[in-house]
Amino acid sequence: MENLDIARSLTLLGDLLEIQGANPFRIRAYRNAVNTVNSSSRPLADMVEAGEDLTALPGIGKNVAAHIIELLDTGTIGRLEEVEAEIPRSLAELMALDGVGPKKAKKLFDELGVETVDDLDAELEAGRVQELEGFGVRSAEKIRIAIAEHRQHTGRFRIDEVEKLIAGLLEHVAAAPGAERVEVAGSLRRRRETIGDVDILVQCEGDGTPVVRHFTEFSGAQKASAAGPTKGSIVLHSGLQVDLRVVPPESFGAALVYFTGSKDHNVAIRTRAVRDRLKVNEWGVFRVPEGADAKDLGKDEGERLAGTTEEEVYGALGMAWVPPALRENRGEVEAAREGSLPGLVELADIRGDLQMHSTWSDGKTSIEEMARACAERGYAYMAITDHSQAMAMVQGLTPERARAQWEEIADVRERIPEIELFTSVEVDILKGGDLDMPDDVLEELDLVVVSVHSLMDLDRKAMTDRVVRAIAHPTVDILAHPTGRRINRREPFELDMETVLEAAAEHSVAVELNANPRRLDLNDVHVHRAKELGVPVVISTDAHSPAGLDDMRFGVDQARRGWLEPSDVLNTRSLVEFRKWLARRAS
Ligand SMILES: [Zn+2]
Ligand SMILES: [Zn+2]
Repeated sequence: MENLDIARSLTLLGDLLEIQGANPFRIRAYRNAVNTVNSSSRPLADMVEAGEDLTALPGIGKNVAAHIIELLDTGTIGRLEEVEAEIPRSLAELMALDGVGPKKAKKLFDELGVETVDDLDAELEAGRVQELEGFGVRSAEKIRIAIAEHRQHTGRFRIDEVEKLIAGLLEHVAAAPGAERVEVAGSLRRRRETIGDVDILVQCEGDGTPVVRHFTEFSGAQKASAAGPTKGSIVLHSGLQVDLRVVPPESFGAALVYFTGSKDHNVAIRTRAVRDRLKVNEWGVFRVPEGADAKDLGKDEGERLAGTTEEEVYGALGMAWVPPALRENRGEVEAAREGSLPGLVELADIRGDLQMHSTWSDGKTSIEEMARACAERGYAYMAITDHSQAMAMVQGLTPERARAQWEEIADVRERIPEIELFTSVEVDILKGGDLDMPDDVLEELDLVVVSVHSLMDLDRKAMTDRVVRAIAHPTVDILAHPTGRRINRREPFELDMETVLEAAAEHSVAVELNANPRRLDLNDVHVHRAKELGVPVVISTDAHSPAGLDDMRFGVDQARRGWLEPSDVLNTRSLVEFRKWLARRAS
């Protein structure tokens, strides 16, 4: 263990004690000790091993010395664990925000249950922070800016956040003098679930200076810089950085490939190009003349073969055009050369949504409103999947209420005949893998969706056994949001997905790709693995209101990143085919 690790634990302990309102002298003792540990040139671990007395160091008393020895011995500090049992460690991060501090962090936690920066952001957005005693509008604004700065240093933004943040900017850029075409590149174009910064390409014939100037004058920028006639960069108030490139028409396709990435994909196609004595860069594809070395050529020297469009660029390299979602160097380069790229699923292929909530649990609208909203989206079928009773705080369905709900569903079916409405429940998987609904109800449901919402910190073996046991239940159809993760908020469960997917294959259970951009659970790698194992994937929105149904496109994007074709996705099937699947065990 290094001094840095010791200092970190002591800092955390000091911070959490401060949030708890502990004795200021005690807190200062920890701060002083951290200074000493950080400035010590020798590893404290060595000193302890050599039997030296740590209290000989300035600022380290008996109490702190004992903590350090315990940490070196056991990897943890008992006192820290005690404190963490009372308040989450993420509050220390919150306290570090400008304008928050220990007292306010405690208040936010006590009154609003805020544990993380993202929680705080959500409460700010809902207007609840401003109303707390001791906060007010001005301090809320200050915190909002602090969050933006914090994100700038630490984080990636969710894809849906980025889309909202740059919508106005894209309109602004499109209106730039001389801008002929505007495209988003980078990880946003590849539809990654989180985005570090945004790349925008603008096609412009001639001098790009006015385009760059217009871009840097965007009113939503807190910082802006231009670098000549082709490059500019701004930071939005949210902390999101956006880079702009101005590109001439003859290079636009090459630049789009180059700036879309990923880096690994670009390296792979460049390596292939070298074998064919070609050179590919953001300017185009060039033939390296006999006897010349590519390294000695200028950026746009050599015989120009392609550059205007992406199709042309890939074509010159002997490849089919690669959809951006696949550009991660996971086999797409070979597939594009062999002509065996997958025909990826599209939003228009989706025929139904198989997870959503109504006012029977925590949804905001009635079954009828959800059904009308699904019908408007052109779906052939849908399932209402309200929670089961273990979710008591959202009035999860008891067996009696589930049966009562079927009557309402029967009514809605009559009123909206254009869509098939399946009865379902999102049944909680209890600790040992039992389902939170008796078998007689499960057997009568059209569709049984199961998921974990409680005891999420089980160890890997216990969690895997729990989920596998649940999907072995003979009525189960779909395992929803399998890993429980919340992007930027909650890590996935400790879960052996390989074992879970194998069990799903064995028991003929489908896995959900939850399309909510806060979840996108399964991730692209697991989605791909499901496909390999022949486990059908269901893309569902888990909508709690009609607007939530529009998240379907995020799920489809993620499915594409996992190489899914329509036939891999269960809810692309027609109603007749989907009914056949539901009846798969009977036959
Ligand atoms: Zn759920
Ligand atoms: Zn749900």
